[in-house]
Amino acid sequence: MPLDLKALVRTIPDYPKKGILFRDITTLIEHPEGFKESIERIASQYRGQGITHVAGIEARGFIFGAGVAIALGVGFIPIRKKGKLPGETIGQNYALEYGVDTIEIHADVLDGDDKVLLVDDLIATGGTAIAAVGLLRRTGATVEDAAFVIDLPDLGGADKLKAERVVVSALIA
Ligand code: IMP
Repeated sequence: MPLDLKALVRTIPDYPKKGILFRDITTLIEHPEGFKESIERIASQYRGQGITHVAGIEARGFIFGAGVAIALGVGFIPIRKKGKLPGETIGQNYALEYGVDTIEIHADVLDGDDKVLLVDDLIATGGTAIAAVGLLRRTGATVEDAAFVIDLPDLGGADKLKAERVVVSALIA
C-alpha cells in the first residue's frame, strides 16, 4: 500500500500567530520512507521532459528541491532571501501580508537554453511562487512547471500560478 504522506504532515494551530494552521513538514522529512517517497513522487512526474535545473525557494524548498534535483540528475538553484548570495544577483519583490520581501538568484545561473522546475514545500496564496517564476523567467529560461508537497487550494495560489502558464502539481491537497 502506498504511504499516506498527508498523515505524516503535522498541523500546528496558532503558529506563527493566532488563527493560522501551520503545516509542519518536519515530521514528514524525519520519516525515512516518507521523505524518500515525497522526492521520488515529485521527480517521477518530470523525468524525460528536458528539465535542466531545479530551483528551490528558501528555506523548506531547499530540502525537497535538492532531493528532486539529485533524483533527476540536474543541478540545483537556491532562490534566496535578499542579501544572502555572494555573486551578482537579480531580485524580485513580492507582497507579504504586512510589507514586502525580496528573493534573489545569481544573475548568471540560467539562460535561454534552460528549462527550470520550481519546487517548494507548500503553496498558499501563490505570492512567493509567482515571484519566483517571474524572477527565473527574467533570465530567459523556460519555466512551465512547479511542484509542491502541499497545496492549500482554498487560498487559490495554484490557480493564480496556472494563470501564469505554469503547470502545478502537489502531492497533498
Ligand atoms: P504563499 O506565498 O502565500 O503561497 O506562501 C507560501 C510560502 O510560505 C512557502 O514558501 C511556504 O514555505 C510558506 N508557508 C506558508 N504557509 C505555510 C505552512 O503552513 N507551512 C509551511 N510553510 C508555509
